[in-house]
Amino acid sequence: MKHVGLFGGSFDPVHVGHLRAALEAAEHVGLDELRFVPCAVSPGKPRPHASGSLRREWLRQAIGDRPGWQVDDRELRRGGVSYTVETLAEIRETEPDARLYWMVGSDAFCGLHGWREADRLGRLAHWIVLLRPGFEDRLPPPQAPDWCRSGTTDDPAKLRRDPAGGVLYLPVTPLGISATAVRARIRRGQRLDYLVPEPIRGTLERADCYDPP
Ligand code: ATP
Repeated sequence: MKHVGLFGGSFDPVHVGHLRAALEAAEHVGLDELRFVPCAVSPGKPRPHASGSLRREWLRQAIGDRPGWQVDDRELRRGGVSYTVETLAEIRETEPDARLYWMVGSDAFCGLHGWREADRLGRLAHWIVLLRPGFEDRLPPPQAPDWCRSGTTDDPAKLRRDPAGGVLYLPVTPLGISATAVRARIRRGQRLDYLVPEPIRGTLERADCYDPP
């Protein structure tokens, strides 16, 4: 049985907060594969500043040849608003035997009740909630679907045994880095050392897609 982590987001652009959290989740649960899933348009956010192809390319360069890590660009190919429920349903259909773990930051998880078919999301995958500074004590929010409470566990072995519906809150190394702050630095012409992966640092520092309109 293959254990597959799926990390969705805008990645506008990818930064070391994403990569470090993903690595720690993969280690903790013992994932065989980790796939970054850049969205076309996130349901809850404005359209990303950088194009899908740029965001995908930066992710590819950031990951490099790390074994088992890849970019899954199905949401970019599908276009339109990217609903996680559609993405997970598609993957389940093509890979019925894989265990799927959707990874999400605690800030995003706080709004899960507003996601399309939130009740169904717990039947399609396990959920690894990456605790970001400032959001720990609000989880799960009162409006969260029932599976968010009933599935809670801190035992990764339980997740590996059960088909779906587990929720594991993972205290990853707190790195208060956001793509918003990275974009602001690019606009101001500031350096990005140690905030973004080195292979894409120079390209991002010169990126004109984050200039003010
Ligand atoms: P933005 O600032 O543009 O809103 P972001 O930095 O939050 O972006 P996203 O691409 O929206 O990045 O994030 C993808 C996923 O990664 C989300 O689930 C988000 O919560 C999580 N995430 C982002 N930054 C971190 C971080 N520093 N530590 C842990 N998780 C993170």
